[in-house]
Amino acid sequence: MNPFPLILSAPSGGGKTTIARRLLEWRPDVGYSISCTTRKPRAGETTGRDYFFLTSEEFRERRERGEFAECAEVHGHWYGTLRSEIERVLADGQHVIMDIDVQGAAQLARAYPHAVLVFVLPPSADVLLARLRARKTEDRASLARRMMSALEELRHAEDYHYVVVNDDLDRAVARVSAVIDAETSRRERVHNLEEQVRSLTERLEREVDNNSPK
Ligand code: ADP
Ligand code: 5GP
Repeated sequence: MNPFPLILSAPSGGGKTTIARRLLEWRPDVGYSISCTTRKPRAGETTGRDYFFLTSEEFRERRERGEFAECAEVHGHWYGTLRSEIERVLADGQHVIMDIDVQGAAQLARAYPHAVLVFVLPPSADVLLARLRARKTEDRASLARRMMSALEELRHAEDYHYVVVNDDLDRAVARVSAVIDAETSRRERVHNLEEQVRSLTERLEREVDNNSPK
């Protein structure tokens, strides 16, 4: 097994957090990198589980120490992925799933060229708006800001390796799961391919020799 970072991006309300949570429940080979943010926790969120909630000062200090693999300002707050979080999950032998914005995804793809980038698309703008409103996590101003960012994020869908439409949740989760399986079998990721092929070849050649007419 050769674990890799899996980046999920989507316009706000597109469903990347929900899909990431489902994959974490269903797939033991997937782990989560907990991001840092300067935004305030929402009701029910705790530090060290949903995010590491930092002050702006703490975030700046950690950035200056080079602790982030990527960081970006999103919806007026700072967000960043700690190198130590990615390494922790990969060292556990799990693919590391990250739910990050398009700016962060581009930085991360440079730092980890073997990362797989998946863009989650809502089935329509009306569905996206309805989901964002139904989530009831934002006030009016924050909702407007998220819609503006959604427009910007949508422009980057073309930079991703895969695009998954989040119409029915189970189907969308199954599609991302299929991407993980396909990527695991990519030739470049298969461990000791040369050795595996050589041992198969040697055995078969012996058999051919033994069976060839003398
Ligand atoms: P994001 O993390 O991309 O901002 P969320 O995962 O928070 O988006 O999803 C936004 C809202 O839409 C949440 O209330 C979530 O429960 C809901 N949602 C996500 N995917 C679906 C789906 N396929 N069908 C119905 N509701 C969904
Ligand atoms: P939320 O505040 O709703 O949890 O997240 C807002 C946005 O920040 C989402 O688009 C989410 O993908 C992005 N985000 C979350 N964590 C990170 C991170 O570590 N880095 C970057 N660049 N974006 C992140």
